[in-house]
Amino acid sequence: MKLLLHMCCGPCACYPVKKLRADGHEVKGYFFNPNIHPYKEFKHRLDTAVEFAEKVDMPIDVDKNYDLRTFLQRALTAEKREETLTEKPRCRMCYAWRLHQAAVYAKENGFDAFTSTLFVSPYQLHDTMKDVAEKIAKTVGIAFYYEDFRIGWNQGVEICKELELYRQPYCGCIFSEEERYSNRWKKQHKKKMKKLREEIVF
Ligand code: SF4
Repeated sequence: MKLLLHMCCGPCACYPVKKLRADGHEVKGYFFNPNIHPYKEFKHRLDTAVEFAEKVDMPIDVDKNYDLRTFLQRALTAEKREETLTEKPRCRMCYAWRLHQAAVYAKENGFDAFTSTLFVSPYQLHDTMKDVAEKIAKTVGIAFYYEDFRIGWNQGVEICKELELYRQPYCGCIFSEEERYSNRWKKQHKKKMKKLREEIVF
């Protein structure tokens, strides 16, 4: 199958590319991530995605468009919707934007299907992403290739080390950077989730 692999970064591509190629697929990488903050981090991840593609001899196309303002507008609008135990509206928006762009690119460039390296991460909302991707596939009119790559997460980390790729410490957006480093945010979020769980029980 001729597959377009949306790449959130280089490290997350390590296992999926190995697995997809071993299964006989022809894979091309596609970098589209206007969610990443700040710009220097965006550039670093973009460069690492290209470095990875060169090291494993894989074709890649990168979208250098850094649409920070649109991302922030969409993220803040999404944040007004209620977060649940299983879903963050901001992340659903973020997945949808990137996967939609990948699906359109795949359709316009003669691919059989699209998928994403996001499906390797145990830190992403896997079921939300799957749901979003399936809906997008129907709307755009191209197949979504689903595989739960999380089984290869540790293997991917090892490949990443062998290839000496830069590994980022947070998901990507400015909100995720706060969530990673702010103890205050972590405490408040824990409280919020506890309250949500109690509301569901009673
Ligand atoms: S946490 Fe990650 S998936 Fe969620 S909005 Fe931020 S960059 Fe996107």
